[in-house]
Amino acid sequence: ILRVENLNKYYGDRHVLHDINFTLREGEVLTLLGPSGSGKSTLIRCLNGLEEYNDGAIYFKNQKVTPSAKNWQKLRQKIGMVFQSYDLFPNLTVMENILLAPTKVQKRPEEEVKKEAEKLLARVGLTGYVDSYPRELSGGQKQRIAIVRALAMHPEVMLFDEVTASLDPEKVRGVLQIMTNLAKEEHKTMIIVTHEMNFARQIADQVLFLENGQILENTPGKDFFAQPQTARARAFLASMD
Ligand code: ATP
Ligand code: MG
Repeated sequence: ILRVENLNKYYGDRHVLHDINFTLREGEVLTLLGPSGSGKSTLIRCLNGLEEYNDGAIYFKNQKVTPSAKNWQKLRQKIGMVFQSYDLFPNLTVMENILLAPTKVQKRPEEEVKKEAEKLLARVGLTGYVDSYPRELSGGQKQRIAIVRALAMHPEVMLFDEVTASLDPEKVRGVLQIMTNLAKEEHKTMIIVTHEMNFARQIADQVLFLENGQILENTPGKDFFAQPQTARARAFLASMD
């Protein structure tokens, strides 16, 4: 569903992604691991057209992903993304946050999206928060709303960038559980950047291990966690225990 070919990206003189190649198949969960500054966020921002790249190509269903404002509008309907900082609109209620893009961008009937939003909210345990404002919610609740908001667009691929990194430990589990359900029950195609290794071990079909903007390993999840191929990845895993 996504194919990346010889992707290269520079910030000024800094070469942050080197010849990245990989394929994401439909229904697959790919986990992106690597130390801080290795290029994980840059890579997934390139995938949904949020970030420009200098060389190589990204194909979504055989169509080239070219970063431009107009394209990004289309792409983010197909490739949803959730960030570490939930970025909900503070002046809109939970329901208004969820309705905005499906009704304004996708022009779907409000009643239909509302019904779906209510179902999604029930699934993440947040029935009854429709009229709340983001400031009235905890971090974990905001993150669950951000996931619902992305899902309401019916994306074909979901990208998650450290969505639990700013949550209290007891809030982390609920959010990870939602992602696990999306993978195991709905077979959502997802790319997940996470520092939660137990979670990654359970959910990853494939692991990409990045360092300094290069893919050091592209390994099936079960093999990666049993025995990483590179000393660097072994050291990384050991440091996460
Ligand atoms: P972390 O685990 O800390 O989130 P990461 O793997 O997501 O790290 P990136 O944020 O992709 O790493 O950063 C990759 C490199 O690109 C880093 O060296 C970073 O300093 C640099 N970088 C990221 N964003 C910018 C920017 N807007 N301008 C210049 N350099 C940037
Ligand atoms: Mg990052």
